[in-house]
This record gives sequence, C-alpha cells and structure tokens, in this order.
Amino acid sequence: MSLGMFSPPVVVCEQCEGEGRALTVCRCVRMGDRFLIDANAERTVDGRAYQGCELCKGSGYLTYDCDSCRATGRQRGQLVLTVVNLDTGVTRSANVVPGGVEPRRNAGGRWELALSPIVAALAAEVGAVEYRDAYGLERKPCELTVMLPADWRPDLPVADRQRLEGAAIARLAWQPWRLYCGRSTPTPDRDLPAELSRLCHLADLLSLDLVVEARRAHERDVIWEIRYELPGGAVPVKTRRWANDLSAAIAATSVSDAMFGLVERARTAPAHYLRPHPAHRAGPPTIDVDQVERRIHADLDGIGGRAPGAQAIWRDGRWQHTRLQVEDQVEVMTEEATGQVVRSSVTLLARAWEPPAPGWQDELIPYGPCPDCDPEHRLRPCLCTLANQPPDPNCPGCSGAGVAPTTMPCPTCGDSHRVHQGLVLTMTDLDEATLHVNWLVPDQVIDVPLVATQPGGKPVFQLPLCYQLDHWAMNLGGRPADLTYLDGGHEVGQDLCEGTVTVDHPEDDPLARYLVNAGGGHPAGRLLVCTAPPAAPPLTELVRLALGLHQTLVVTLEDHRLDEDDPTKIHGEGWGIELIPPDRPMPADPKPYQRSPQSAAACFLEYLGNAAHRVVPDDPRQGIPVPQTPEPPPAVEDPIRLIRHLARHLAGRPVSIRYHLGGCHLYVHEYGGARHLASARTVPIALTALGLGLGRDQS
Ligand SMILES: [Zn+2]
Ligand SMILES: [Zn+2]
Ligand SMILES: [Zn+2]
Ligand SMILES: [Zn+2]
Ligand SMILES: [Zn+2]
Repeated sequence: MSLGMFSPPVVVCEQCEGEGRALTVCRCVRMGDRFLIDANAERTVDGRAYQGCELCKGSGYLTYDCDSCRATGRQRGQLVLTVVNLDTGVTRSANVVPGGVEPRRNAGGRWELALSPIVAALAAEVGAVEYRDAYGLERKPCELTVMLPADWRPDLPVADRQRLEGAAIARLAWQPWRLYCGRSTPTPDRDLPAELSRLCHLADLLSLDLVVEARRAHERDVIWEIRYELPGGAVPVKTRRWANDLSAAIAATSVSDAMFGLVERARTAPAHYLRPHPAHRAGPPTIDVDQVERRIHADLDGIGGRAPGAQAIWRDGRWQHTRLQVEDQVEVMTEEATGQVVRSSVTLLARAWEPPAPGWQDELIPYGPCPDCDPEHRLRPCLCTLANQPPDPNCPGCSGAGVAPTTMPCPTCGDSHRVHQGLVLTMTDLDEATLHVNWLVPDQVIDVPLVATQPGGKPVFQLPLCYQLDHWAMNLGGRPADLTYLDGGHEVGQDLCEGTVTVDHPEDDPLARYLVNAGGGHPAGRLLVCTAPPAAPPLTELVRLALGLHQTLVVTLEDHRLDEDDPTKIHGEGWGIELIPPDRPMPADPKPYQRSPQSAAACFLEYLGNAAHRVVPDDPRQGIPVPQTPEPPPAVEDPIRLIRHLARHLAGRPVSIRYHLGGCHLYVHEYGGARHLASARTVPIALTALGLGLGRDQS
C-alpha cells in the first residue's frame, strides 16, 4: 500500500469548530424548568433548563468529546471506499480525495460527488452480485453522495475547487472508511407464504401461539406485527415494528424477531405443564397469506364497527381470529435521564374473544409469591446485600437501607411476582428436532451429590442428568457450546448446562433453588432453549478478508480443560477474533469469551463495521490506507485445528495466532502480557519449531 504515506488535506471540524469538544443543549430544555411533565398536554416550552437536572446541573448545556473528529478538532478530506468479496477474498478500494472524483450535476442543479456508482463499480470488479454495508449486513447500502457547496463551480481555479471539495468530503469523515462485503452468488428470492408457514410450524412444534396482529396507529395507518406468545398473556402495550401490510411484516420477521420479547410478553400468562399431544401434520401447513390478511381486515372494519386492532392466532394447527378492544386507559410515569418525570396516558387493548385453550396445555404449575420483590413498590434487595451480606451503610445505591428502587425486572420472578415450583424445558434446533421436559415438583427432596464448595463456603450440588441441558442438547444432536435462549439469543449459563447449583445454607433444597434460578426471568414457567449453532462464515474466510484489507487477524483460544472437575470454574473453550492494524501491538490480556469458533466468527462479522472504524488512524494528518487484493494472494489455512492443538498444550492460558500478509506469529498470554512463541510462514511450521508439530499426532 504505497498510499500509507499519503497525507490527506485536513480541515477544521465543523461539528466542534476545531475545539475537539462540542456543546449541545441539554434535553431538559425541551421540557422546561419543571419536575413533572404532562406528555399529552400542549407543550409550552419556556426554553429554560430544569434547575434540578441530573445531566447538566441546571446549566442547560452539555459538553462531550466530538465524535465527528475523534476529539482532534480536525478532519480528513479523504474517504476510502472498499468492497470485499467474502466468497473469494478479492478486494478493491477507491480513494476519495479532492480532485479525484469528477463532480456531476444532480437533478436540482447542484454539484455533487456521486460515490454510490463508484461502490457499484468496485463491487462489479470483485465479482460481487450483491453487497452490504459492513455496519449493517442485513440492510441494502444507502445512497452515498458528497454535496458540494453552492459556490463550487467548474470554472474556479483548481486550488479553490479542491479546497471546497476537501471540506465537503470531510463532512462525511465521521465514518472515513466505508467497507462493503459482497457475495458471488445472490441470496435466493424469499418465499413469504413459506416463511409464514414455517413460523406456524415452529409454533406447533414448540407449543407456542403465533400471533399475527394488525393495530391502528393513526387515523389511517395500520401496523402489522408477527410474534410468538404464550396463551393468556396480556396484549402488549406497544408494537415494535412498522410494517404496513402482512407481506411486509413477514419480510421483516425472522424466527428470532418473532421470539424477541417473548419472556416479557409472557409475564401475565398462566404457567402450565405440557401434555404429550399428537402432531397436527407431518410438515409445515399450507398458508393462504391473502386470506389471513383479508380476514384480519374484516375484523378491523367489520360489522362490529371499527376496532383498534385484530389478531389471527395460530394455535393447535389452525387460525383463531379475534378483534381487539380498548380495555383501559392508564397513566404511566416514566423517569427521564434528567431526573424529570413524564406523565403519559396509555391505552390498553384486550382480545374481544379468547380462543379455546390449546391441546398441549396441561395442569397449572404451582407457584408461590416472589420473596425478592414487592409488587406495590419498585424496591429490590440492593446489590450490596448479595450473598447474604448485611446492608452497607456507605452504599451509594441504598444508603444502608438494604433495598433500592430499580427499573430492571426482578431477577427472581421477572416481575411476574410468581415463583414456580416446576418448569417446562423446551429445546429445539429450529428445525424438526424438538423436545419438551416437564420438571415437576418432586414428592420428596431428592438426594444429590455435593460436588464443590464456593470460596465463601457455600455448597455446590449437581442435579441428575434430566436437569442438565448439556445432556438434552446431545440427545438432540446439538453441542453444549451452542445453547442459547430462544428469546434474545443470550448464552445459557454453565450452571444450567451442567445442572449445578449453589445453595445459601447446607439444609436448603438444591432442586428448589435450581428451579428458581432457572425460572428467574421466565415468568410463564417455560424455559425455551435453542441448540442450533450460529450462522457463521468459516474462519478461512475471515483470515482472507483481514489479509485482503491489509490488516492482521488475531484468533485467540483458551482451553479450560484443567478446570474440568471444578464446577465453580469456566469449562470448555473461550474464543475471540479481532482485526488489528499491522502496526499496533498485540492486546495484552484478552478475555476470549465466545464458546465456539462459530460464535466468535459470527460476532466478528456482526461488528466488522466497528472494527473498520477502530483501525482508521486517529490523527487526521495520517492518510487512510486504500487496500487492494494482495499480490500474490495470501495462502489461507483453517486455524481451528491448529490453534486447538496449541491451546491444549498450554491449557489454562489464552493463546493467539496473529495472521499477517507474510505469515503468522504465535503468542501465549500470561502474567498480564502477550509472550511471543514463534513466527513462521504458516502455523504448522511454527508449531513444528515449537516441538508441537502435528505430524502423526493428530490430537
Ligand atoms: Zn469535531
Ligand atoms: Zn439538563
Ligand atoms: Zn446497598
Ligand atoms: Zn420478584
Ligand atoms: Zn498434541
């Protein structure tokens, strides 16, 4: 990259006028000098700051580090556009600097630098039939244009033209490196009826409701949403999506979108055990999307008059239709970050008709009141009382009271105020493999082995196999490292995977404690877990991507096998993948926390846009490199087996492979630093040099 030494024109940052720090009007000014604000009343803003404001202390202004210029006060008149073909690693970039792009006149007569055609040309060069912004691999990239100021004219002297162009380019320099990822083959066309059919089929397999809802937003607008629910829960106060018809709603709803928020929606749903029930049909049902949509429209505008909303509920293998009606009007108080309180009125909707209970619903799960929260007040045990500590008189959270107000849901009951004595575990690979386990209240205390003692002296027990999620995952053909909650996609903790539980007192019932821990935040007594591995590119693709961008890729792994017998320590593997510029040192003390190479790779690709942002030099006088496919293209190997071999021999310490264009470096992380082990053209050569050659030892 000969352009590494290139010095771009530098201009004063417009956002902060060169100060590096910028001033903004505090949000309290919008609400005026009042504690209580009525959201529904006409707003008469007096332009004064709230004197008790917790953000600005009453001054009305906030200062912050300018992020347009990274607090340097200066901006580059340079943008770099890069398109990488993820399938082949071919990389092309364009350097957008004054004088480098031919301005054109837009339809309004204004001069501009059109950058989208340049990106499209780069994509064609790398053979990408479609491409996405690295910041949002789900969305189509948006139009990218540098508007030139009104006084730019083609007949100005070159120096004047370039000065104006430099300032205009700098205006987009808050994201100076625009990175796009492409593919050689197009994503297949979507089949929306098939997608809705699959959502229905999953509802049947998982014993959930699939709710298709249309709700009036304004006079003429109807908002459509598709989501999973549990029978008997309240109609949510708010919708989350803005689809204008059913097809748009299907297009905007993946399985995880439909799951998202299920736990919160289930807060008021009664908890039932599941009853074995026959499958309604072998495969996904045939769904007539138009018919579902027409029926919902009929409910919205039908003979009963205008309804505020209508639902089609997929339950027991068929649609059940109901209108929504206004149930109540309630006042809601929300605290703003300023310390002010906003009072607003919210309309609660309810189903006009309740469809018959599903065939899979069995007895109610018995429950008791939550010991850790009070439904009348938002007071919770303060963090300072964790682990049975007496309240700390100097605690900033509670000043020694031991309880503190919070806006977070109660960790014990998820704000349902019920603690269930049983639980239903549902595990699925999101395909055809699904299992349900009723964890019933046992007739007598079951005898479980003591497996460890916490440093504070509390005993740790391990429950039988049927309470260990790892066991069920393997039954379904899944891997323990892939277990995530269906709602939100968070990893399932190790205690639940291995069936271990820490109790406060030796005489406490470990199973009761275990069910409280497992059910916390799962109000309707349903624990819904996914065993499917994350959709992730192979690591070879990421190595090639990083090298194509002339960056280094650091793959880190910690093998926890030495702690295998200690349930209080982390087990399995910890993975991490990072993009680091060639001239920056190794991270000293990495905490590789992803449980599989697939989840590390998926996470890497999700945050690729942020990584590209971080590798741009902070100093605007330093040019941004303009990467093109390296010549010759680098040889790429799959690091998984290689780094596992190294990590096993150095178990208990993270090890890293750092790939660069000429080869690789191997490191072990210990004593707070990265110790260099070996450097070579390939990892197998480096391992051989370390006496760890794979040779015949294929472990
Ligand atoms: Zn600035
Ligand atoms: Zn303020
Ligand atoms: Zn406290
Ligand atoms: Zn609670
Ligand atoms: Zn070995």
